[in-house]
Amino acid sequence: MIDSHCHLDLPAFANDWEAVVAESQAQGVRRMLIPGTTESGWRKQCLMAQRISCLDIAFGLHPYFFPTQADKALTTLADRLADTGRSAALVAVGEIGIDASIDTPLDKQQYLFEEQLGLAARHHLPVILHHRRSHHLLIESLKRCQFSGGGVVHAFSGSEQVAKSYIDLGFRLGVGGTITYARAKKTRQTIGKTDINHLLLETDAPDMPLAGRQGSRNSPVFLAEVATALAQLHNTTLAAVSEQTDSNYQSVFGRVNHCK
Ligand SMILES: [Zn+2]
Repeated sequence: MIDSHCHLDLPAFANDWEAVVAESQAQGVRRMLIPGTTESGWRKQCLMAQRISCLDIAFGLHPYFFPTQADKALTTLADRLADTGRSAALVAVGEIGIDASIDTPLDKQQYLFEEQLGLAARHHLPVILHHRRSHHLLIESLKRCQFSGGGVVHAFSGSEQVAKSYIDLGFRLGVGGTITYARAKKTRQTIGKTDINHLLLETDAPDMPLAGRQGSRNSPVFLAEVATALAQLHNTTLAAVSEQTDSNYQSVFGRVNHCK
């Protein structure tokens, strides 16, 4: 299994991220992708990926942490992408997107998002998308920018119609802890009806605790619980889910090697 979205660089893991990686490997998680959120995080992600070969990283400016000087931050991002290159563990631009539940004006968010789509296209990298009440805006931007690099819609929730729109644009859907909650009927139904070819596993650790684990730190250690819930929705085995989602990860991000 591969955790396509876990924030091991955040303070919640400051004291034990290496132990968490080791424990996750012991639980069958062979690769983990740490998405970027802010300028200050990118250097730390690089150091982590240099230390442990099963960590992939992405650089991006997350709308939650909207930079005070957006253009300056975009220039820095362009420089970091150019310096780091495809040869390193860098596999995507993200996490980027639009969030309609925060106060930052949507036009500003859309600008930052579309500029980053441009950077991803220039570097031939896929993107990791963040959404909240913003599917229509993201899809509009992807079309306007004619972005064809694909990627993943992280923590997908939504209707079958929205899922199809992303899939038609070349995206995979990130499946996380939401499907472990019986009350998440719409998302469970959509994910249950979407071919596993279009899905990736993720935890979004330390956020989005799984059902039964509310109030405690989420972790890639628990990824098998997401995979098991997905296997149940598709009436298949955990092994089949692991194999297919690993292969999907490789198609999107180009890496699937076992950890050493
Ligand atoms: Zn995230």
